[in-house]
Amino acid sequence: MANGVERRLAELLADGDLRIGQIIVLRANSGWELRHRDDPVATDLRAYDSAGHAAEIARFDDAGKYRALKSAPNLQRGWRIVVRDLESVRIALDHFYPARIDAILAADKGALRTTPLRETLNRQSGIYRIAARISDEQLNDLVAGFCRSDGGCLRTILWRRDPAGAPPSTKLPREKFDAAHDQTGRGEPCAPLLCQEACNLLVAAARKVVKRET
Ligand code: SF4
Repeated sequence: MANGVERRLAELLADGDLRIGQIIVLRANSGWELRHRDDPVATDLRAYDSAGHAAEIARFDDAGKYRALKSAPNLQRGWRIVVRDLESVRIALDHFYPARIDAILAADKGALRTTPLRETLNRQSGIYRIAARISDEQLNDLVAGFCRSDGGCLRTILWRRDPAGAPPSTKLPREKFDAAHDQTGRGEPCAPLLCQEACNLLVAAARKVVKRET
C-alpha cells in the first residue's frame, strides 16, 4: 500500500509529469521515466532500469567532479531511469534530492518546522562551534553567494537569519524564498526543493569565514 509520501507523489504526477530541481519525471509505457530536465526528448541517453542507479548519477557532475551538495544546479546529463512504480520513483528522487517530497508533504500539512540560521549555528559543537561567531554582515554575503540558485543551490529558503525574523540575505532575490518559483530559471511549473534549515555545507562555509579572521 502506498504511504503518505507516495500518495503526495501521485498527486504531483497527476498531470502526467513532474519537474523537481533538475529532474523531470515522465510517464513511460511500462511505468515512469526520470531524466535531466535538459534531456526531455533526447534519444541517445544511457538507460537504467532501477531506482538505485540514481545514487551513482547524483554523485558526480558532467566533468566527473564530486557533488557535495545534492541540490546544486550541476546534476550530470545524458541518462534516463525507467522504473515500474511510484515507490521506485520515490526512491530515485530520494537519491537525487533526499526527503524533499517528504518536506512538501509536511509543508502541505503545516508541519514543516523551520530553524533560524543563528539557532543552527549556535547548536554546533566541536570544530564547528566557532561558526556562530560570524557577523550578520558576513552572513548576509555568505548566504547570498552560497545559496544563490544560479550556481549555488536550487532549494527554496524557508528559514530566517534569526528568531526575530531577519531575512537570510538581503542580496538574494525574493523569488529565492518563493516555493512557487522555478529556481532553475526556466519558469516552468515545478515542485519546490524546500530548505527548512541551513545545511552542513553552509555551516562549514560560515566556519571558514570566521577562521579566516582568527
Ligand atoms: S542552506 Fe539550504 S539553500 Fe543554502 S546551500 Fe544549503 S541546502 Fe541550499
